[in-house]
Amino acid sequence: MGSHAMKRKLTENWKRVLGRIEEACGRAGRNPSNVTLVAVTKYASLDIIRTLVDMGVTHIGESRVQELTKRAASINEWLSRRARDINAGAKPRPNWHMVGHLQRNKVKAVLPWVDLIHSVDSLRLAEEIDAQAAKIGRVIPVLLEINAAGEVSKQGVAVAAATHLAEQVGSLPHIKLRGLMAMAPLTDDESIIRSAFGRVRELFDEIVGERLCGPDFGDLSLGMSNDFEYGIEAGATYVRIGSSLFQGIELAPEPAQT
Ligand SMILES: *Cc1c(COP(=O)(O)O)cnc(C)c1O
Repeated sequence: MGSHAMKRKLTENWKRVLGRIEEACGRAGRNPSNVTLVAVTKYASLDIIRTLVDMGVTHIGESRVQELTKRAASINEWLSRRARDINAGAKPRPNWHMVGHLQRNKVKAVLPWVDLIHSVDSLRLAEEIDAQAAKIGRVIPVLLEINAAGEVSKQGVAVAAATHLAEQVGSLPHIKLRGLMAMAPLTDDESIIRSAFGRVRELFDEIVGERLCGPDFGDLSLGMSNDFEYGIEAGATYVRIGSSLFQGIELAPEPAQT
């Protein structure tokens, strides 16, 4: 596939997804400007990411630390080179979202590059982020990942333990707790997905209502390609979308597990 054909397809997919976000917002009585589309590029090549940035996409998500750091470094370098070329036109540096499970021994590597970590699910992980962030003089925005489905194998903090963890994480000086994230249960049954997202929304409202966290607590990251409409219904301010954006585009093989 040539680069023009790829860009055309990517633009078409992007517009289609934005259209679906607008429709879902319309049904939910919400303003689409309060929903940020994060392009999850874990299956895509660097070439595709450059094309997204060229299209003006400013929120990019990765699920593995090694990929995120490598790609963020490479995109930054590409943007600096481009900024020196008067014919190329400047593009904003994208925000990088860590959406996958984060191991404590990878925290140090990801912090210089990441703009929002969606997947904090334990105090030990939060404390490591806080300690490493202090060393580089940053305050790192994070979301708490909730195990909304109650599935044993899933990551995320149990619903019953979430408010307590939110208070603890919210009090760390080098972390800014911005809200909650959850993955839908693996099912096609929309009532199960809706009730899982609804539970996360209730938890969010409880934390806000009881003022357990500060004024920065205001985000919900809910929904992927197959379920983002339900996420928007439940109040998502971030939807994390991969495969719907890359339909009809040849993708690089999935990166090796780290
Ligand atoms: C891969 C991934 C996504 C995007 O999933 P799609 O179904 O491809 O849209 C979103 N969130 C997380 C945490 C992911 O790992």
